[in-house]
This record gives sequence, C-alpha cells and structure tokens, in this order.
Amino acid sequence: MARNRKSPPSIADIGSSSPKRAGRICGLCGKSGRLTRTDCCHNWICDDEASYRPFSYARNSCARNHGRYTLCAFHFNEGHKGSWQACSQCRESFVPEMYVYYGTNEYNFSVLPDPPAFEPTLCGTCGKRIVLGESGFSMFKGTYFCETCTSRESPRSRSPRRGARRSR
Ligand SMILES: [Zn+2]
Ligand SMILES: [Zn+2]
Ligand SMILES: [Zn+2]
Ligand SMILES: [Zn+2]
Repeated sequence: MARNRKSPPSIADIGSSSPKRAGRICGLCGKSGRLTRTDCCHNWICDDEASYRPFSYARNSCARNHGRYTLCAFHFNEGHKGSWQACSQCRESFVPEMYVYYGTNEYNFSVLPDPPAFEPTLCGTCGKRIVLGESGFSMFKGTYFCETCTSRESPRSRSPRRGARRSR
C-alpha cells in the first residue's frame, strides 16, 4: 500500500500568498500595527492613546497628537461647519502663530494650504523668539516669557532636590 506523498498544489495557494491588508498604515508615522480611524477626518492612525501616561505630556501618541494639537480635531470637536482649512471660527479661536502651528504641524494629515503670516512671539524680558507650541513659555497680562526667563523669575521651581534619592 504505497501512499502517494506528493500532494498536488492547491489552486488557492497559487498567486494569492500575499495578504492585501499590509497597505494599511498610520497616516502620521507610517507604522502598521493597531490602527483606528480618527473621528474628525476618518484617517487611519495608530490606536495608541491608551499607551499615553497621564500627565507625562509626552507627544508619542499619534492619536493623541492629532486629537489635541490640530485644527482638524478642534474644528470637529467644536462642531464647526465646512472644512477646517476654510473655517473662520477656527481662525478666530487662536492667535495667528498657534493657528498656523495647529494647521501645519506634523500631526496633520493635510496641512493648511495657505497659512497666514504672523508676527513672531518674543519674550517680554530677553526678547528671544518663542516658538509657541514647541517651546515652553509663560504668559502674564498678554506678554509672553520664555522658559529661561520664567524659571529665573521663580527660583522656587529650581530648589535642589536634596534627599530625593533614597537608597534601597
Ligand atoms: Zn502613528
Ligand atoms: Zn482629523
Ligand atoms: Zn472650525
Ligand atoms: Zn526670555
């Protein structure tokens, strides 16, 4: 009783060995993995909001970055009408520099086609340029202060952390 060990190639195996779902990637970082769709613009994006550690202010979550730092999400959350690129309500909601930042940063799937010009924001103490949205600053009565000047003004925030290291 010789068994035929040669199994005939099944037709299903031929030519269809590569699954098509590999083309689905995050529109921001290009990773394929756990993806979800944004509520605002229905783009595929990393489903990574759960990995964000509360109060860490890290910007490593694609879903969170798009949801927090873009006009697209703001426009959607505020229930504005039409496209965010053409929305006057969005434009009036921010100082021009922040409006441009939220509309052109790397957390956008598509950016503002024609961002308005704006005056750079300068520190009220040292006059250094403050890039709103990217560098730290404080604001007091409409004047911005850079991170350096802010920490100089409040020396308590720089108190030495004596005894913070406990040996175990
Ligand atoms: Zn991503
Ligand atoms: Zn969006
Ligand atoms: Zn809007
Ligand atoms: Zn300064």
